Amino acid sequence: MTIKKVTVAGSGVLGSQIAFQTAFKGFPVTIYDINQAALDKAKDRVKSLRHAYRRDIAASDAKFDEGISRIAFTFDLAKAVSDADLVIEAIPERPDIKRDFYKKISTLAPKNAIFTSNSSTLVPSMFAKDTGRPKQFLNMHFANQVWLNNTAEIMGSPETDPTIYQEIVEFARDIGMVPIQLKKEQPGYILNSLLIPFLTAGQELWVKGVADPHMIDRTWMIATGAPFGPFGILDAVGIRTAYNILLAAEKEHPDAGLETIGAKLKELLDEGKLGMESGEGFYKY
Ligand code: NAD
Repeated sequence: MTIKKVTVAGSGVLGSQIAFQTAFKGFPVTIYDINQAALDKAKDRVKSLRHAYRRDIAASDAKFDEGISRIAFTFDLAKAVSDADLVIEAIPERPDIKRDFYKKISTLAPKNAIFTSNSSTLVPSMFAKDTGRPKQFLNMHFANQVWLNNTAEIMGSPETDPTIYQEIVEFARDIGMVPIQLKKEQPGYILNSLLIPFLTAGQELWVKGVADPHMIDRTWMIATGAPFGPFGILDAVGIRTAYNILLAAEKEHPDAGLETIGAKLKELLDEGKLGMESGEGFYKY
């Protein structure tokens, strides 16, 4: 099957970016969200990407407007998926919400349609049965600022059909992504499996009092030539997200001694130091 029509479900931070990038690359896209208020927000989010596309990839206004014109918006789920070749799910990271969504679209979407999930932490075998089409279901995980940080980590469940997997690899290329092909399921994919332990190691050095954040970053940057150390990265990710990731890790590994890091991050949050987005985190911006 060739993918022609794409539906993106969930039009928040990532869904709106994925939808626009897909439309920008020439595909007709339908954005589905739960109600008119969410769709109104989505319209604003999509339009607000103009500046970044111009600044980061020199997109002309005409090309940007063409992208916008390929997007339709609806909160009617049956209508949203009835003629989709591909449904890209970018709804909240809650298993109950995702499960319910897949059960609903399993009967509403065409039998041949492929479903992909943008989940950051949930593996596809968790929902394969709910989709009613385990062979045509896999994860395609984008990074924030998809037009710039253009990886698409592609990860099937043991049941995913290899032909469908390759079709998604091609689709990822068609929309300007670099497809990263995982051979098996891994929570956190490749990027976060590397990044989160690295960030935690940096924070452990800090809370143990071995060195200050700036010194830890400088060590990494001078010795490896990397542009940022763990604390520079934490400021870019945002301290709120870093704190949420830590709480989740603490829940999963209660004996890992992460509560001291959590308490220090909470102090920053209480002081309004959210990282780059607020102008101050571990650094001032
Ligand atoms: P978000 O909270 O910004 O957006 C979620 C959207 O889903 C909202 O517009 C909401 O109205 C909508 N929604 C809620 N319930 C829904 C339902 N039942 N059906 C359809 N839409 C529904 O979330 P986000 O940050 O865009 O994350 C979405 C997914 O993408 C998550 O699985 C997350 O793990 C993943 N992700 C996020 C990032 C990131 O940097 N934010 C990066 C990679 C992957």
